[in-house]
Amino acid sequence: MNKAFVKEDDDREPRCPQPEGCGGPGVAVPPDTVAAQAPETAVAALSDDVLYCLDPACEVGYFDPWGATIPATALASLSWPKDPNAPLCPCFGMTREDVIEDAERKDPSRLRELIAKSEGPDASCTTRTPDGRCCVTEARRLYLRHLQPDPEE
Ligand SMILES: [Zn+2]
Repeated sequence: MNKAFVKEDDDREPRCPQPEGCGGPGVAVPPDTVAAQAPETAVAALSDDVLYCLDPACEVGYFDPWGATIPATALASLSWPKDPNAPLCPCFGMTREDVIEDAERKDPSRLRELIAKSEGPDASCTTRTPDGRCCVTEARRLYLRHLQPDPEE
């Protein structure tokens, strides 16, 4: 095969379709999540490979590798980061401000509680978030980023 036609792996990653989308990468979304988040008629227009665009400014919610899209506003929950006012964790309502505040006070108790709850039966990230992912990774990252360094150090 001619080398020119062999694409790099990166190029094969489906991108949020332009012009309506941002051209950025997406995260693969489990079918249960798509079914819970998008209207049935809209889902019918997508292939089985559904991705969620994480760009806060982009109007595309779901897209597939063949350029079909569902607008973010058609999804059941907009969620952070597409809705900056939405709680970071739609299951338990913890917000980014909560996490930052706790980090600044060096109080990990709410984050610990969130991590514990996220493993319990009340966590429903799969159906409540448009990307189907649990918020704990982002919450932990945010906490560590805002944790104040110890003055003695
Ligand atoms: Zn996009």
